[in-house]
Amino acid sequence: MYRNPDPAPASRVAPERRGAVLGKFCRACGTVYPKFRGRHAGKPLHGKDHIASPCSHEGDPFDPGADWWEPAVEVLPSPAAPADAAPS
Ligand SMILES: [Zn+2]
Repeated sequence: MYRNPDPAPASRVAPERRGAVLGKFCRACGTVYPKFRGRHAGKPLHGKDHIASPCSHEGDPFDPGADWWEPAVEVLPSPAAPADAAPS
């Protein structure tokens, strides 16, 4: 069964394991929004199914340089992991 890897905030991923930028990670609520979303609103790409309270940044624009969000990147396989994991 194919499992889509979860995007992770770039600062938590080792530089050699950072893949493509998939979205925007909100540090306040841990939700990832699509890459081209201009503001913290609407349906997230990835996040909790049930959020008890709205994020304090709900509706805020993803301004470059704002410190409450960062790019969410694809996590590449560890170089130490075997690369010959053929499908069975
Ligand atoms: Zn948020």
